[in-house]
Amino acid sequence: MSRRRVSIFGATGSIGQNTIDLIARDAEGYEVVALTGASNIDLLASDAKRLRAQIAVTADEQLLPALRNALAGSGIEAAAGEAALLDAADRPADWIMSAIVGAAGLAPGLRALRHGTTLALANKESLVTAGPILLQEARARGATVLPVDSEHSAVFQALVGEDINAVERIIITASGGGLRDWPVERLAEATPEDAGAHPNWDMGQRITIDSASMFNKAMELIETKEFFGVAPDRIETVIHPQSIVHALVGFNDGAVMAHLGAPDMRHAIGYALNYPERRQLPVDRIDLAQLAKLEFHAPCVTRYPALRIARAVMETGGQAGCVFTAAKEVALDAFLAGRIGFMDMSGIVEASLDAMSSKIGLSNAALTLEDVLQTDHMSRQTAWTLIEQKR
Ligand code: NAD
Ligand code: MG
Repeated sequence: MSRRRVSIFGATGSIGQNTIDLIARDAEGYEVVALTGASNIDLLASDAKRLRAQIAVTADEQLLPALRNALAGSGIEAAAGEAALLDAADRPADWIMSAIVGAAGLAPGLRALRHGTTLALANKESLVTAGPILLQEARARGATVLPVDSEHSAVFQALVGEDINAVERIIITASGGGLRDWPVERLAEATPEDAGAHPNWDMGQRITIDSASMFNKAMELIETKEFFGVAPDRIETVIHPQSIVHALVGFNDGAVMAHLGAPDMRHAIGYALNYPERRQLPVDRIDLAQLAKLEFHAPCVTRYPALRIARAVMETGGQAGCVFTAAKEVALDAFLAGRIGFMDMSGIVEASLDAMSSKIGLSNAALTLEDVLQTDHMSRQTAWTLIEQKR
């Protein structure tokens, strides 16, 4: 059998490294085309050498000399910058992992779909920002998009062989994040260090903080609406502190299918890598008797205003998701920089949505990537202005 050609966008991150872990276990099975990263040049170069990639690309043009240096003598090409990321997405591949963090992941994923390449989508911002554009491109090119977010992979798996019209509801579970046991009154004081520790999952810094604020879950609710095409009132979330049940799908006959597994992203990545087959994966097996209990409870909206905002974004549709993602990224940057508090992030996002709604109206869908990038840019400026005004 010929080797499968794979590229990994965001190879140096948490999802990227887990993807590499799976691929490196079957080195003969894969031909690695492109690996991309941003600042961690040593890791990017050493993985490119280990996996014998054709090309390594850093998003940061200033780091091209360092990357060239690190790859000297290996025969592996080095490139840098946004255009180089798109060129890498043009290289023929059978499967691409989209694991850049943030809205920056959209353009390379969209470019890969143009070639009909199967897209394993970890970058949830792509769907929240431009779901219809992305999925339309996939349909037009006959390309498959596979969700890698654990909850969406779980829903996808529960839907195999089912009729989407028989789905009554989709329930996405949430761990509650690193601050779930803090008193609500103290949340305003939480620092990036406090919010950056997750009880169950080992993930990148940004998504871990988004878990504590539940902006991550808010994104996932919108992602669910976009990917599976179900109405917002059929999408729910429930707190499940053990992170063993990743999602549940309720059908019109009252049956509920749940997906269970250890909290290890290699499940969802491996499912997307092996799809439509299932193969052995090096993940822990769950032991229900040892787990003893699985708890579920409704999320408190005072603690997690992001969930309320997600509902409004889903109801509005159109460009609301793009504004939401951009404002959330800016608010997170400001929180990480110590400029605003943990609970201020939701206020900035909500005020950005209001301001952008007055400026451009949100319910009309963006039709092109350029429209999306323009709204993204304007939303970021709006959010920064609001942050400045707070000071
Ligand atoms: P991370 O921060 O660990 O890694 C991000 C990757 O993107 C790195 O390779 C980094 O070099 C690259 N990158 C950062 N900024 C970039 C830019 N401007 N241009 C190009 N590349 C850039 O993030 P992660 O936790 O691996 O998450 C990646 C994506 O997957 C996110 O969208 C996240 O929401 C999603 N996701 C992650 C997990 C998880 O367990 N980590 C689970 C579900 C979904
Ligand atoms: Mg998730």
